Amino acid sequence: MSYAKPLPQITAGTKPFWEATRAGRLTVQRCAACGKMRFPAASICDDCLSAEAAWVEVSGLGTVWSFCEFHRLYFKGFEPDLPYNVALVRLDEGPRMYTNIVGVPILDIKVDMRVKAVFEPVSDEVTLVKFTAA
Ligand code: ZN
Repeated sequence: MSYAKPLPQITAGTKPFWEATRAGRLTVQRCAACGKMRFPAASICDDCLSAEAAWVEVSGLGTVWSFCEFHRLYFKGFEPDLPYNVALVRLDEGPRMYTNIVGVPILDIKVDMRVKAVFEPVSDEVTLVKFTAA
């Protein structure tokens, strides 16, 4: 599989997330001490500083927190997509993640719009999480 866009580096700390997305599951870290859900992965909880956490599956449902439309080309691989949106989605469980809204014209994307996760395999190791209208 050939993919022209930048890909995330999979580390020991993020490997569980990428294994889950390959299986079509969205996961975030939950602090074992205080229960706070967090994303992206971190080695300690930013609330209680505990280093103990587990990856837990979330619903994949959320709302658009913010979004914009990119018209300028920063990476050659994105050229066929111009213009494209970049959105910040707040999961129902709390964490926010940067993503793209797919299957929705830019003029129909709204802040607070309900969305659900969809999974886009782009390489043998990486399946990206994007969102579409719920
Ligand atoms: Zn905590």
